[in-house]
Amino acid sequence: MTDRPRILVVEDDRRLARMLADLLKSEGYLVTLAFDGQRALHEGLTQPFDVLLLDRGLPAIEGLDVLTRLRSRGVLTPALILSALGNAADRVEGLDRGAEDYMAKPFDIDELLARLRALRRRNISRVPVLPVPGGTLDTTGRTVTTDAGDVVLLSDREGALLEHLARRPGQVFPRADLLESVFPDADDDGVVDTYVHYLRRKLGKEAVLTVRGIGYRLGART
Ligand code: CA
Repeated sequence: MTDRPRILVVEDDRRLARMLADLLKSEGYLVTLAFDGQRALHEGLTQPFDVLLLDRGLPAIEGLDVLTRLRSRGVLTPALILSALGNAADRVEGLDRGAEDYMAKPFDIDELLARLRALRRRNISRVPVLPVPGGTLDTTGRTVTTDAGDVVLLSDREGALLEHLARRPGQVFPRADLLESVFPDADDDGVVDTYVHYLRRKLGKEAVLTVRGIGYRLGART
């Protein structure tokens, strides 16, 4: 566990990506780099970040499509688009598609850092806690604090699965959807059952409910 802010940097120009990574590390960030949209989506869905820095023109999946997909799956991490597409219509499109901020390339480094700080402040003020059966999930630290005050540590994947269910309590998720959203690099939906089993073992049988013939949903908060 660390207090350093975590940032996902998505940029296919590797020189620029490494320059940004060095700069952000020197500012205290823990940096994860993705050079294409597919990787960005995977990282964004499976790891918690405090802020996202996204290019638009990317191999595999365009940057705004990455953001749209993350948002549709409940990832609300503030995002700054950093793009050569910088006219007013481009910026409007980016903001309409879920970005919190937008900067055109070429950019001023100090301004970029200041805008990232502003986004992080906004994120910190949003409570990263979701109610789950018997307690609350801290989505940043991947821990559940039970109503009795015990802290249960989850693995990244357990935490990602529980968070996915907890962001839409009451919704039934087909196993195939959970496989795609939470375990995009696995190809057998048995992994979903395995992690449901792990969550039940840690949090109790009622934490995740089986909906016969369909999939799973979050258990009821009692
Ligand atoms: Ca690019």
